[in-house]
Amino acid sequence: MPCGHNLNCARVRLESLTYYILLSWRTPLPYGLSFEPPATPRLHSMPISLGTAKASPGRISYGTYNLLEHPIGGVEQLPVVIAQGDSRGPTFWLTAGIHGNEHAGLQVLHLLITRELARALHGTIICIPALNPAALRTMQREAYYHRGDPNRLYPDGRPPKPFDPDRDLPSALELGYTRLFGEVRNTADFWIDLHNTWTGSVSMVYRDRVYYRDDGTAAAAKAARAQAEKLDARIGEMCQAYGHSVLREMACEAYFDDKLHRSTTGAAVNVARIPALTMELGTGHMPDPKIVAACQTGLKNVLRWAGMLEGDMEPITGIKVVDLGYPCRRRGTPRLPIACIVRHLVDAGDIVKKGDPIAELSDIWGRPVGERILRSEYDGWIMGRLHGIVHYAGAELCGMGVRDDLPTVLPYPKGFFKT
Ligand SMILES: [Zn+2]
Repeated sequence: MPCGHNLNCARVRLESLTYYILLSWRTPLPYGLSFEPPATPRLHSMPISLGTAKASPGRISYGTYNLLEHPIGGVEQLPVVIAQGDSRGPTFWLTAGIHGNEHAGLQVLHLLITRELARALHGTIICIPALNPAALRTMQREAYYHRGDPNRLYPDGRPPKPFDPDRDLPSALELGYTRLFGEVRNTADFWIDLHNTWTGSVSMVYRDRVYYRDDGTAAAAKAARAQAEKLDARIGEMCQAYGHSVLREMACEAYFDDKLHRSTTGAAVNVARIPALTMELGTGHMPDPKIVAACQTGLKNVLRWAGMLEGDMEPITGIKVVDLGYPCRRRGTPRLPIACIVRHLVDAGDIVKKGDPIAELSDIWGRPVGERILRSEYDGWIMGRLHGIVHYAGAELCGMGVRDDLPTVLPYPKGFFKT
């Protein structure tokens, strides 16, 4: 039996494939060399819309965006909320729920988007509170129709690989996100994506490094670097306006190995060249009201920084904000030298020195094992403890902020665009 959504389904399929092809076939030169980070809002000649939600000055509009087609009929729809004040201001994307076991962002967005906010806005907020409905329904990190991290599916700007019949085609979710990313590129001046990390972890910001191409002429590389530096400065200002603890993303190799350049904000920064940040809001499965409140305050401060809200910046209160006075990047450390049971001796937000005890190690009978105490390899601070106390050798025990001396603006790895 044909499903009642045949036209929708066909359109979802067609648009997904079209966007995939268009984005995949972007020639290397235009991006990285010719963009201008949107320091001023782009001019929208058409009223802003996403799916069935259409912006209307002074109002909140609700609608849906067709993400992908289900095999048994029907379409996976993303909820869309558009809040618009003065239509001439910037467009700010706010999203949450790409990992289905991370629920705080959804709550933040429900509380943040009010009629009062809409009336006060200079510009437009496009909000998707549930980027991955399948994972949210099942309270899993991943959607059941795509194996792998859903936050590694956004375009990376590389040319498509030659067709290989033995390679899997992009999943329906990847095609849907690729098409959605086209909407981001068309409309967004800024993007913030909300996540959670570990139970009890500190509220923090992950800041992507900005990569630029240096494989053309010296003049082109110089121009690309200058533009990347401008974008990076804007990202730094956004972090400062938000006012929570800040961590730089991992360094070059681990970042690309882990496909973080294909996360929402990795792609926003490095492909769309939009100032974007990933916010990590502590415990995922049971939102912490203090972090939820502090996130709303931080987001309003970012809107003020962007010129979209009037009024003074509000102080961030009720949460731990860690600033060691030097930049930090995130790292999973220390790693366990042996399989064991651990008892943590540190808590999220603690500042530690190299050699400080992090955990006590025992066997299942409760007897000390190994060196008995696992110590910190670095000066830094504890972002949070990884879940569980029963671990195999090699497991990371904590997320730590450790000193970061690497630049935040870097050339792409050699050969990145050739593979
Ligand atoms: Zn997440």
